[in-house]
Amino acid sequence: MDFPNYFADAEADFEDSKFVIFGVPYDRTSTFRKGASKGPYEIRKASWNFETFNMITGNDLKEVNFHDFGDLDVIDDEAERMIEKVQHFSKKLISKNKFPIALGGEHSITPAIIQSFPKDIYVVSLDAHIDFRKEYENNKFNHACAMRRVADYVGVDNVSVLGIRSAEKEEFINAKKDKLSYIDSFEIKKNGIHKALEKTKNKIKGKKIYLTLDIDVLDLSYAPGTSTPEPFGLSSFDVYNVIKFFSPQLIGFDVVEVCPSYDYGQTALLAAKFVRFVIESVYFSK
Ligand code: MN
Ligand code: MN
Repeated sequence: MDFPNYFADAEADFEDSKFVIFGVPYDRTSTFRKGASKGPYEIRKASWNFETFNMITGNDLKEVNFHDFGDLDVIDDEAERMIEKVQHFSKKLISKNKFPIALGGEHSITPAIIQSFPKDIYVVSLDAHIDFRKEYENNKFNHACAMRRVADYVGVDNVSVLGIRSAEKEEFINAKKDKLSYIDSFEIKKNGIHKALEKTKNKIKGKKIYLTLDIDVLDLSYAPGTSTPEPFGLSSFDVYNVIKFFSPQLIGFDVVEVCPSYDYGQTALLAAKFVRFVIESVYFSK
């Protein structure tokens, strides 16, 4: 170990912290590339690279209490068991009025966190993939089904997926039939991220928002270290703007699908920076 094994500056006690970071090192349903279970470790390691002071906003993370709980013990579990554990832990956080921040692991962890909130929330997913399969390889907990499971819980009207550019044909037809709200990455490139954000906000209105960031929403040139990379993605500025725009309404966040063995650390660095920016933006937006 060549760094303190906790997220940089997460030095406040659990009780004193609004924001609680936890790792969910799980990748058992990944199909193309394994390795997302190493995400939490590499994201924490990368987090030590950054200053607490943000020269662009003038805010300083030193003023914010946040806690790193460590990893949940799920690495060898069947998906059902992993989901039980994530739900149990998330419910505890939500009952104590904490803001959960999960470090994946793969996208299959997200429904479990969302199902711990009351149902009247809105979910924004940043993802190259629509993740709307009913099941995949006979497993309805597979990461390719994440947004379908989320929609089962909050209702399909309360989900928006931004940045998509890949879906199986039947999955895409079903998503359209079910009126899943999405804006693909080509539309975002053409009209700009702010158009997409305004359009999404009109749908959300004043609801509380859970934001899930599948790191593969970024173009693979920014984030090559992911399990199913796709070209024609968003830029790091786009994702930054999404976080900033929704920060006053956010109640929880996760970053998933960082698969560190496929790059030189840049994907974990981006993930760590986004976690820091979520904490900063939410805290200072109040
Ligand atoms: Mn996904
Ligand atoms: Mn994806």
